[in-house]
Amino acid sequence: MRILIVEDEKEITDGIKAILEKEGYSTDVAYDGKKGLECIENNIYDLVLLDIMLPYMSGIEILKEIREEEIQTPVILLTAKSQIDDKITGLDAGADDYMTKPFDAGELLARVRARVRNNADVKKSIIYAYDISLDISTYKLSFGDKSVKLSKTEYQLLEYLMLNKGQVLSKDMILDKVWGYETDSEYNNLEVYITFLRKKFAFLNTKTSIVNKKGIGYSLVSGEN
Ligand code: CA
Repeated sequence: MRILIVEDEKEITDGIKAILEKEGYSTDVAYDGKKGLECIENNIYDLVLLDIMLPYMSGIEILKEIREEEIQTPVILLTAKSQIDDKITGLDAGADDYMTKPFDAGELLARVRARVRNNADVKKSIIYAYDISLDISTYKLSFGDKSVKLSKTEYQLLEYLMLNKGQVLSKDMILDKVWGYETDSEYNNLEVYITFLRKKFAFLNTKTSIVNKKGIGYSLVSGEN
């Protein structure tokens, strides 16, 4: 679970970061609106905590922009008490929830959990793509009556490919999503895991495959193409 915090007051981001990381969430921080939008557009986050008053671009502007781009990442707006009108505008613009500053750790975690749970309910316990299926709780990859267990990294990588089947995912996007935004992992590492997955596909004898698209990135496809 990776959460982006977009907020320009360092004291607040430090506080939120500490609370969330203690609960086992991974976090990234953007300190201004432009950077925030850029991060959200990477589409690697499970949740965004978005302040309204930000340098360069307001939280409301960001929200309108990403919803227009059909990025559906859940957003919780962080508002000051005086910004009650913004709160309504924000919900209209596609925010999922809002919190009034200052808030305590308990309230923050309750809101985050509610959002994450809502999302998990929608998520099926098994993901299907072409002729393969992936169990999200046991990490078991299956084709027909054969199955094989994946490691956590293999699972995260394949889940991302399956949820975006047929699309080319750039190496940078995959590294950000699977290894994290500030990762030191290199392309080599990704290639190693692609090889692991291909071996498992071969073992299962599935027609689904991972293809390398001209050095740009990888795509999960059906058949030989
Ligand atoms: Ca602010």
